[in-house]
Amino acid sequence: METKETETTRRAFLKTCGRYSVVAGLAGAAGLLAGKQQITGDALVWQIDPHKCIGCGVCAYRCNKLISAVKCFHTYAMCGYCDLCTGFFDPQLFTRDEGAENQLCPTDAFSRREVEFPYFEYIIDHDLCVGCGKCVDGCFTLGNGSLYLQISQSECLQCNQCAIALYCPTKAIAQIPAEKAYLLKQV
Ligand code: SF4
Ligand code: SF4
Ligand code: SF4
Repeated sequence: METKETETTRRAFLKTCGRYSVVAGLAGAAGLLAGKQQITGDALVWQIDPHKCIGCGVCAYRCNKLISAVKCFHTYAMCGYCDLCTGFFDPQLFTRDEGAENQLCPTDAFSRREVEFPYFEYIIDHDLCVGCGKCVDGCFTLGNGSLYLQISQSECLQCNQCAIALYCPTKAIAQIPAEKAYLLKQV
């Protein structure tokens, strides 16, 4: 059974993470929008609506870039910091064994570190992420969808016609003015 002190520590940690994720999210958004492309105010940028995306996998191979401009993002304030994360582990296996064969991510982009037993922080390396959506789909299986896909503005070529948008089964991709807020999941 958890002591009161442990609970307080965990709550303090989650609160800190929540605050951090908002700051990191905003800073990340600003950084991405001001990335390589130098996108100006009235320009349109391709974006995924994270509430329409079902993580179908098309984003990984329809992008005009060899490695997709679509990456996995994480709203830490929504995350349960679950030990048995079904975005990290294959939900069919119901295991906590971290062997590569039990993990969903095919590129080793998705890692975790223990923050306070039994809670884990999940981290995505965008240099390795190919936007396959396996972790996003897995998170939906038992979790609450804190993992989601978004087009990284520092990677996107802003093609006249986004090749992924043509094939997206849920029409989740559209052009929005660059001056509008980056489409992130919020709590
Ligand atoms: S599972 Fe796919 S979308 Fe998720 S982090 Fe790995 S490469 Fe990216
Ligand atoms: S606009 Fe082009 S580079 Fe950007 S996500 Fe779509 S296909 Fe990929
Ligand atoms: S094609 Fe559409 S539904 Fe499929 S992963 Fe990409 S944005 Fe999501």
